[in-house]
Order: sequence, then structure tokens, then C-alpha cells
Amino acid sequence: MGKVAVAFAAAAVLVSCSVAAVMVGRRIKSRAKWRAVVEILKEMEEASDTPVGRLRQVVDAMAVEMHAGLASEGGSKLKMLLTFVHHLPNGTEKGTYYALHLGGTYFRILRVHLGGERSYLDVQDVERHPIPSHLMNSTSEVLFNFLAFSMERFIEKEGKESNSQGVKRELAFTFSFPVKHSSISSGVLIKWTKGFEISEMVGKDVAECLQGALNRRGLDIHVAALVNDTVGALSLGYYHDPDTVVAVVFGTGSNACYLERTDAIIKSQGLLTTSGSMVVNMEWGNFWSSHLPRTSYDIDLDAESSNPNDMGFEKIIAGLYLGDIVRRVILRMSQVSDIFGPTSPMLSEPYVLRTNSVSAMHEDDTPELQEVARILKDLGVSEVPLKVRKLVVKICDVVTRRAGRLAAAGIAGILKKIGRDGSGGITSGRSRSEMRMQKRTVVAVEGGLYMNYTMFREYMEEALVEILGEEVSQYVVVKAMEDGSSIGSALLVASLQS
Ligand code: ADP
Ligand code: MG
Repeated sequence: MGKVAVAFAAAAVLVSCSVAAVMVGRRIKSRAKWRAVVEILKEMEEASDTPVGRLRQVVDAMAVEMHAGLASEGGSKLKMLLTFVHHLPNGTEKGTYYALHLGGTYFRILRVHLGGERSYLDVQDVERHPIPSHLMNSTSEVLFNFLAFSMERFIEKEGKESNSQGVKRELAFTFSFPVKHSSISSGVLIKWTKGFEISEMVGKDVAECLQGALNRRGLDIHVAALVNDTVGALSLGYYHDPDTVVAVVFGTGSNACYLERTDAIIKSQGLLTTSGSMVVNMEWGNFWSSHLPRTSYDIDLDAESSNPNDMGFEKIIAGLYLGDIVRRVILRMSQVSDIFGPTSPMLSEPYVLRTNSVSAMHEDDTPELQEVARILKDLGVSEVPLKVRKLVVKICDVVTRRAGRLAAAGIAGILKKIGRDGSGGITSGRSRSEMRMQKRTVVAVEGGLYMNYTMFREYMEEALVEILGEEVSQYVVVKAMEDGSSIGSALLVASLQS
């Protein structure tokens, strides 16, 4: 070998050595970055952990807070609001009734026709539209004018046969925000939730606002009841099955109501002369307990929300928020590592990742996780390898599993309060035989999160069995109520007329 050839060979060795060194260096660096990301995942997984022991603590805390909220005004973060609903529809109702429902994301209008027998429930013309976002921080006048206008359009489209001319229409206003009722048909807004911010509306009578707007348009419609969405769901549940005593909504927000003995509503003794029972709107979104698992993402989400230090339970279980928790984790990962490529500015936009997309990613069953890739691309994150897509699915799983399991603990807490969890409840004085006797109990559930996100639903139902045990679970039936809050509210108005 000549000198040149030797030098050339030596240089080639040197080059390949340094190429190898660079590659090893890169691999070490990329491994370190991957480790950092895995560390973040591990941390949030640990902080979100919901072993059954912890769930039972949440169950107990829920039952205790319910008692406290019933004992005195302001006695708990749970407002345990009176609804003045003493009787639920029983199937004998007759006639045509309307419901207008303002949810967190959608408003709906529908008409039901009842033939006096449970089997004759005809739900007609369900209209469902997203609430235009500018209305959420407009004025009460703009909001209610819009609702009245929508109602007018709905009625204009009615066939002549659906309502005999000249008869006043009876309407239920299903309103998914906390209201302090003074009767079944009147009540003032306590506060907004779910991103609504019309401050001048707080303290105003909600039914009166709608009635005023309907009157201004010259519509002959009577707002016969102001109904929380959970109470609507309970009404529909009860209409079909009188063992229904609890209703829960998992939609944009989350809330629950249940049938309580009037004498257990201690804060209102004297006010409530009717003996028997009343539906209590728990406003459970505001529940809090130190046993609830909380991550740094939850803390940041709360601090940056329109209602900080408020609605803590809702912010870890409801549809408006799950997507944003997932977004925050992905953002954090993309800041410490380049596994998502350069950090997409879109990842910093609050609520840009919706819970619908979380369920689409979580339930993506394509082998290459194409749905995950597509949704990440919409967030400005393109071309991530399969193992990163799997990581995203895992994040969705951790966030939704926690939500579903805590939702189950909330339900079990209510069952405990009313002595339907097999333990005899936390009130003393129950007889032994009463403690042993387990009644069939139906929990009506509705809301877009529950109806459309299978994994959420499965985690919830699985945890409920874990908490209650196989035996007691046999007596607890969870029933989905599609559009339950709107239909049920119309039924409730019908039951007031009969
Ligand atoms: P509202 O809260 O206005 O009464 P819904 O009960 O229909 O309306 O709930 C809507 C919410 O449910 C959405 O904002 C979203 O958070 C959640 N949701 C709807 N569809 C899905 C889905 N496919 N996967 C996960 N969450 C969903
Ligand atoms: Mg709803």
C-alpha cells in the first residue's frame, strides 16, 4: 500500500469513527430526551392514581359533604340546592309540552307529546345547535333574545296539527347552571360555570329573563318550570322506572341530583311544609376533598380558568376540561424534548384540544394510529413516530381513567348518603334489617361525555362495581338517558299540569 493509500484508509477510519461517535451521542441524547418524557408520564400517572382505597375515601367525603351541605347554608362546597320538585312524572301525563335547554356547549329545543300512558311518549322535532361562542360573554339581554328568537323559529316550523291554535304553550327551561330557587318556576343565577361570563346576570331570575324575552317577541309561551339538567334527567328516568332516585350528567360540565327525604334537608326546616321528598340539586362540580388526586396540570388549568378555585371536581371529570388536561401534558413534554418536533405554538392555546378528539385518539384502533397522527397534525405536530403516538394514547388513558373512576366514586357517595350502597349509609339509627335490605336503585346518566366516550363509560362502570362489590352492584342499575335532561324537563312540566 502506497503512502497516499495508507493516509486515505486512516482518514476513512477516522471519519467512520467520528460518524459513529456522533450517532452514539445522538442516540444517548435522544434516549435522555425519551427518558425525560417517560418521567413526565410516570409522574402524572402517579399523581392521578385512583386505587380503590382512595376511591372509597372520596365516597366517604362525598357523603359527608352532602350531609354538611344539607345541614346549613354554606356548610359545604356542595350547595345541595332546593329544587321544589316534590313529585316526578309517573307516566299518566297527557298533552304537548316544550323544552328549551341551555347546556354548556349546546342548546336544544324539543316538543313531546304524551298520551297518558308511559308507553306513549312521542319526542318530536329535537333541535340541537352549538351555542354561538360570543353569547357566552355577551349580556343577558343578548343571550335571552337569542333563545327567544330560536324558540320562535322552532314554533314557526311546526305543522298545524302539532299544537292547536290559540292554546298557550307550556315550556320547561332546562338550565345547566346553579340556581337558587324560590319555587319550581323561579330562581336566581348563583354563578356561571363552564366558561360562561355574563356577570350582570348573576342574581337575576332566570325564568323571568326568558319569559320577558318571549313576551317581547309576542310569543304566547309560558315558562312553567326552571329545571336543572340533572333534574330533567331524573324526571325521564323516573318516568320510565320509578326506582330511579339519582341522576348524573357528564357533558361539558358535570352535576348530580337525587331524591332526598324532606326531613333530611335540615337547613330548610320550617320553609318546607310538605312532608315527603324533594329533589336536591347537588351542584357536585364544586365538590372538593383532599383525597382527590391532583396534578400540576390541574392546578395550572384551574388558575388560568375563568373561575379559579371553583368547580374543582368538574375540572377533573367533565368534558370541557379533559381535553385541556391532555393538551397541557403534551405541551410540557414537547417543551422538555423534541419528540414532538419543534414545540407547536398551537399547543399553548387553551382548549384547542377538545375532549371529542381525546376520545378519538384514545379509541383509535388503526394499527398505525392514524387518527392520533391526524389530530396531532391539526395541532401543528406532524410526523411523529408510532411510539410517540402510543404515548399520546397513554396520556388520554390516564386522564380519562381518573375521570371515570372519580365519577364512579361520586355516584357511590350519593348511594352511601341515601343508604343504597349496602352499608346502610352514614346516618345512625337504621335498623339492622334495613341495613341488610338492598333496594334496586337506578341511576339515570346522560351527557355527551358519557354517551359518546366509551372508555370513560367503561372506566366509570368498572370502578362502581369495584367500590360497591359484586353483590351490591347487582342492585344498582346505571341507565343512559339520551337527551334525558330536555325530554325529562318537558315531562316535569306535564306532571305539574295534571
Ligand atoms: P351540553 O354540555 O351542552 O349539555 P352535551 O351533554 O352534549 O352538551 O355534552 C357535550 C360535551 O360532551 C362536549 O363538549 C364534549 O366535552 C363531550 N363530548 C361530546 N362528544 C364526545 C366524544 N365523542 N368524546 C368525548 N367527549 C365528547
Ligand atoms: Mg347537558
